[in-house]
This record gives sequence, structure tokens and C-alpha cells, in this order.
Amino acid sequence: MGSLALSFLAGAALAFAAVVWYVRSRRAPVSPLIARLEPPRQPRSHTSIRPSSLVDERPARRSTPGRGFRASIASSLMAPLGVAGVEAQERELADDLRGYLGDIAAQHGADHVMLWLRTSGSAPYQSVASSSGGATASSWGTEQQRALIGWAASEGVVTFDTASGTPSVAASRVDLDAVLPLGDAARAGGALVLHAEAGIRGSRADLKLWLPRHAQRLAQLVELQVTRNEVARANRELRLLARNAQEMEIGGEQETLERRIADNVVEAARADFAALVAWDAEMRRGALHRVTPGYPEPLPATNQRVEADSLVGSVCLDGNPLLWEDARTIAGEPLFAAGSLVPNTGTIAILPLQRGGHTVGAIVIGAKEPGMIKPSDLRMAKQITQLASSALEAVWSFEVVRDSAVTDQLTGLGNRRHFDESLRRVLNEVDRYRRTCALVLADLDEFKKVNDELGHEAGDEVLKLVADVLREVVRTTDICARIGGEEFCVVVPETTLEGAAELAERIRADLSQSSVSWKGREIRVTASFGVATYTAGSGVERRGQLFQSADKALYRAKAAGRNCVRAE
Ligand code: GH3
Ligand code: MG
Ligand code: MG
Ligand code: MG
Repeated sequence: MGSLALSFLAGAALAFAAVVWYVRSRRAPVSPLIARLEPPRQPRSHTSIRPSSLVDERPARRSTPGRGFRASIASSLMAPLGVAGVEAQERELADDLRGYLGDIAAQHGADHVMLWLRTSGSAPYQSVASSSGGATASSWGTEQQRALIGWAASEGVVTFDTASGTPSVAASRVDLDAVLPLGDAARAGGALVLHAEAGIRGSRADLKLWLPRHAQRLAQLVELQVTRNEVARANRELRLLARNAQEMEIGGEQETLERRIADNVVEAARADFAALVAWDAEMRRGALHRVTPGYPEPLPATNQRVEADSLVGSVCLDGNPLLWEDARTIAGEPLFAAGSLVPNTGTIAILPLQRGGHTVGAIVIGAKEPGMIKPSDLRMAKQITQLASSALEAVWSFEVVRDSAVTDQLTGLGNRRHFDESLRRVLNEVDRYRRTCALVLADLDEFKKVNDELGHEAGDEVLKLVADVLREVVRTTDICARIGGEEFCVVVPETTLEGAAELAERIRADLSQSSVSWKGREIRVTASFGVATYTAGSGVERRGQLFQSADKALYRAKAAGRNCVRAE
């Protein structure tokens, strides 16, 4: 409890300091409505983010509200366009601005008044807030009118749609450079746009005076809202951090702990999915332990091995996090191992899990859209992984000790206990992710004869041969165990009855072709197979009877003359 309170206090102090620093680092306090027309601001530099530039990335000065940009702009501003939602506590900018835009409309007799922006140099300007609601305004405008808005935004002059007479469209630049880090290409800024079909009220001279003032006030409102969202975000992070610290203290079963950590990291980085890997530094290899439900298809295997020369392996080896803001460029590269590839998705980050100077694992974080995870997003995720590393190391090293308790000494396959635990875990995942798994049971044919004629030692050699054949044929995802004297089982996740029957047939054929030499004699054996499946939603009773179903099928294979496969 003491350390929890401590980490909470430390977090609170940090967040408070961050907010104070953040607010003080803003340019100027919000000035009264009377506009001072300031000279254009200097362009800011933006760091481009490359993989490996993340090592202990701690910018001395955060020139732009990183999260503020994404949460407040990509979400808040684009929300009316149906691009993304926002958290309840982060108020939508468009809603906030609507009232002020309405006031401008009333002052100038406009049908509606809009704020137009673009998010990159190549993107078109679009209406992100309007006195009459974002959605209605988004379809507004002819090509000519849009060109006029772009002109106003880039040139910083008040523009009208006619050279003489009463204009029906007027636009003025809104300088948001300091508020919205839209990037160099988009630096042209935004535009305040007035539209009145019957003509805008007031003289051109009046409009040229008023519109830049309105535009500056608008920029201040946007800045205020971005700051407010930043504070809301800091609060959210603090709550998550406190909750995570508490959860790590509670501990729990390995499965629960892994799931919590994966979920918390996803939440912290506002990612869409994560995968948790345990790493054995001595052996220079690891294993995938958990993926969250949002992981893109095809899902990696449950116990997918992680090789040193994969992307995750390299992060585990050198301990430096990696981030690809556009992960489409690395789609198809080995993520966990040769053949287990980076999913075709928008953003990928890999963070090492470190404890006392060595790597105990890694977590892969991903988002469906490019650019959705920024270095600033990883800051929180890193804090969570630091807390998680020691908890995970504890359960994972316990697991290593336990390994000998779940291994069959003769064949090196899993033992009965391993089988029972694996089956329970796989069935839980089947239920959780609404999937299917299969069970293949094998029993050697007339094995007693081998023992009787050649002795138990010969029989043992045959059992080792069977284990070798199983290891050859099954995928790394499948879980092989020797569950009885000469009975074997393969748990096959993500597989239908047909697929499992094919697998059983392959094992059967391979075994019947294999032999082991014993004191100058070639011993051959065959086996009979029973196959059954379980699909999520088919009921607890069915789940409980999966093993019996496979056993019944095996019995039918024996009855049918042995050396064959029967499916339920
Ligand atoms: P079938 O299954 O085809 O009906 O005939 P079976 O002869 O294989 O019959 P069953 O499965 O009932 O017999 C199991 C035999 O396996 C009994 C025992 O001699 C042998 N056995 C069980 N455990 C071991 C072991 O650890 N080592 C050796 N060498 N033999 C074992
Ligand atoms: Mg038997
Ligand atoms: Mg038998
Ligand atoms: Mg037998």
C-alpha cells in the first residue's frame, strides 16, 4: 500500500508540474476580445520520428501539444465530420466554437460562419466547425469558393468572392500555427469563412477590419480548448497510472496479469491492439504470450516463438524501443519470427520490458491508422511497462521453474498436467475470441506386443520416435503432450474438424513410414487417432466433453481396424 500511495503521489506531482509547465509554456495569456494584430509567428521546427530515435526520448521542451494535437484536433475537430470520436471529458472543439461563430454570423447577417482547416499540405481545406453545425457545412462550397478559402488561408488577406458590389462570401486567415502543430506542409493555417446568399452586411472596409479580429479571437478559443483537453488528458493518464500501479500490487494469476498489462498499455497509448512477449535473454529467444482482441488477422499463434533476428527479437536484444508511424512500410517483415509477420496495419511500436538492466520481454503496440501512436503516446505506455516488468518477471520465472513439472522426462513433450492446463487456457481463449479449437488423440496400436517381444526399453525408444514425429508434423502453435503411457494428444487452436483430421492423417502416415532401430532391428509402429472440436458458444457441456468426444472417436478408429483416423 505504501508504494502505491507513493507512486500515486509522485504521479500527481508530475502531472501537476506538467500542467503548470505546459500552461506557462504557452505563448501568452488569453487576451481580451480587442484584437492586437500580431506579426506572423515564426515557423516551428518539427522533429520527424524515426525508429530508434525513441531511446529515452525526453524532449527538453515540448514545442507542440503532442497528445493535444491528436485528441483535440484529429478527434475534436474531425468528430463532426465523422472521422473519430472523443472521450467525454475532452470537449469537442466544434461544439465550443459554434456559439462564437453564431455571434459572428449574427453581427454580419451571414447565413453561416465556418472555420476551415487542412491537416496536411496536400489535404484539401475542409470545414471543421460551423455556426450551423459541422455536418451541414462540410458539403458547402463550389470549387471557386474553396479556392478563395485556400487563398485567404495562405495569403493572410481578407478575400471576397466578388471584386465589386456586396460579397456573399468573405474569408480571413486564422493563424493556428502556435496552437495546432499541423506540420510544415499545412502551415498555411485555417480560414474564417462567412457566407450570406443575399450578401454580407457591412462595407468591405468594415469587414477587412472585423474579420481578422474575429479570426484572432477564434485562434484564442481554439488554444484554450486545446489546453483544456491537455489537462483532461493529464487527469486521465494519472488515473490510469494509479489504477495500473494498484493492479500490479494485487498481482494475480499469470493470465490475468498479462491481460491487464496488455489492456492497460493499449489504453495508455490509445492503441488498437497489443501483443505481449516473454524473452529469455540467456537463450536469446522468446515466446508470444498474449494478444489483445483487436489484433489484426491472421492472429499469430498462441505460443508463437520469438526469434532473435525478428523485429521484436532485435528490440529485446538491444533494449531500445521502436516506433513506425507508418507501419505499412514494414508490413510483411518478420515481427516475431520468420513466417510470423508484421500485420498490415497503420502504426506499430515495440517496447522492451526491462528489469534490473536485462530484458524480460517486449510489448508490441499497434493502431489501425498510420500516425495514431506518437512518441508522446508511448511515454505513458513506458511507465506502465516499467511497473509491469517486475510483476511479469516474477510470474515468468516461476513458469521456468514450473517447466520441469510439466514436461514428460522420457519424450520431452508436455505431460498430462501440461496438457490439462494448456487445454483449459486454449478453451478460455476460444471462448474469449469466439473461435474454434480441435483435439487430436492418439493411441499406439498393439504396443503391448512391442514391450512383450522386445522389452520395455525398446518400447521407450518407440515412444521417443512418436514424440519426434509429432514435433515434426505439428505447428509451433499446437500443443503436444504425452498424456498416458502410449497415449498422445495434440491441442490444435484455430482449427476446424477437417483441418484437425488432416493433421491427424499426416501424423498417422508419417508414423507408419517411420521406424526406430533397436539392437539391429527396425521397429515400426502405427497408431489410431480420434479427433473432436469445440467452437465458442456451443455450450459448457460440450466444452467439458471435448476430451471424451475425441476418445470416443479414437475407440471407433480402434474398432475399425487400427492405423486410421476417426473424427467425432
Ligand atoms: P491397442 O491400443 O491397439 O488396443 O493395443 P495396446 O497394446 O496398445 O493396448 P493398450 O493401449 O491398452 O496398452 C498400453 C500398453 O502400453 C501397456 C504397456 O505395456 C505399454 N506402456 C504404457 N506405458 C509405457 C511406457 O512408459 N513405456 C513402455 N515401454 N511401455 C508402456
Ligand atoms: Mg493405451
Ligand atoms: Mg488402448
Ligand atoms: Mg495402445
